Amino acid sequence: MITFYPGPSKVYDEVGQYLQEAVDSGVISANHRSAAFMQMLEDAIRNLKTKLNVPDAYEVYFVSSATECWEIIAESLISDGSLHIYNGAFGEKWMEYTQKLTGSARPYSFETNNEPLLKDEIQPARNEIICVTHNETSNGTALTAEFLNTIHDQSDNIIAVDATSSMAGVELPWLSADVWYGSVQKCFGLPSGMGVMIVSPKAVERAIAIGNRAHYNSLLFIRDNFLKFQTPYTPNTLGIYLMGKVMQQVASIETVAQKTLERAQDWYSFLPKHGYQLLVENEAVRSKTVVALRDTKERIASIKKAALQEGIVLGNGYGKDKETSFRIANFPAITDMEIQTLKDFLVFFSSK
Ligand SMILES: *Cc1c(COP(=O)(O)O)cnc(C)c1O
Repeated sequence: MITFYPGPSKVYDEVGQYLQEAVDSGVISANHRSAAFMQMLEDAIRNLKTKLNVPDAYEVYFVSSATECWEIIAESLISDGSLHIYNGAFGEKWMEYTQKLTGSARPYSFETNNEPLLKDEIQPARNEIICVTHNETSNGTALTAEFLNTIHDQSDNIIAVDATSSMAGVELPWLSADVWYGSVQKCFGLPSGMGVMIVSPKAVERAIAIGNRAHYNSLLFIRDNFLKFQTPYTPNTLGIYLMGKVMQQVASIETVAQKTLERAQDWYSFLPKHGYQLLVENEAVRSKTVVALRDTKERIASIKKAALQEGIVLGNGYGKDKETSFRIANFPAITDMEIQTLKDFLVFFSSK
C-alpha cells in the first residue's frame, strides 16, 4: 500500500530500522530524567536545528501535537488579543479554539485564490499576536515568504505561524516570525504523536512578561525543562528518538526544498495535462507540499476507489471543499517510484 494522504502520511522507509535500533539501544526504556535521555533529546534538537537551518537563538520544544500549540499560544503568549489571518479550515479552527480560550480572537479571512491584502485591512493592534497558517492543508494554498516578511517589517507584533504541513518540506523564513509549529506526521516523515514548537527570543520575552505558569503545558514550564534537556511530563521518547535519527539522515533543507519544489511543479503541470482540475487557480498561492484537486463527488469517489484497488491511498477533501476535492501529499518521504506509480494510475484512470 502506498499513501499520498497529507497526514498521517508516509514515513521514511528507514523508520522500520530505526524502530529496531531504538529498542536495541535501551534508551526508550530509560527514565526521562536520565543522562541517556537528556543526551538523546539534545542530539535530536541539534540535528533538527542544523538540518532545518533554525537560527541559533530560537528554541525548540517537542510537545504532543500542533493542536496543543494552539492552546500553548493562547494561554502563554496572548494577553491583548490575537488577529487570525486565514483562508481555510485549519486557520479557522485555530481562531475558534483561541476564541474559546481568550475571548479576544479577531478573524480576518480571505479567498482561496487571493493573497491577503496587507495595507488597510490588516492592522494589528498593539500587542495583538498575529496568527497565520503558512500552508493551509485543507485547500492546498500557502503564504509566500514575501507576505511573511512584509507583515514582519510592517509591525513589531509577535507573529505565530502554523507550519504543520510545510515544516521540514520547504524552507521557512524563520526570522520573519516568532513562533513556528508543526507536527511530525506531515513533512517530517515520522509516525504521528508529536508536535514541534520553535520560538524566538522575543516570544520567550513575551511569555516571561505574561508569566503564566498555571498549566502543565505553560510555555515557561516547558522551557524550564527543555533548557535542561528534560520535558515537563513523560514524553514520547520513541518519537524523539526517531526525530533525531531522521533529522540526521535527511539532506539539508535547501536540498529537500529544491526537490519539493521540482516535484510540485511537475504535479501542477502533469495533472491539468491529464484532465484533472486543480482546486487553486492562482499559481502564486499554490502549496508546494499539498496538491488539491477539484471534481464531482461521484468522480472523486470512483477515483479513490480505483486507486485503492491499485494499492494507492489518496487524501480526502477537508473543510468546506470536503466533498468536491481530494488531495495528494507532496512530502519528502515519498519516493520517485511511488510518484510514478500514482502518475501511471492517473493516466490510466483519465483515459477510461
Ligand atoms: C495537520 C494539521 C494540524 C493538526 O495537527 P495535529 O498534529 O493533528 O495536532 C494543524 N494545522 C495544520 C495546518 C495541519 O495541517
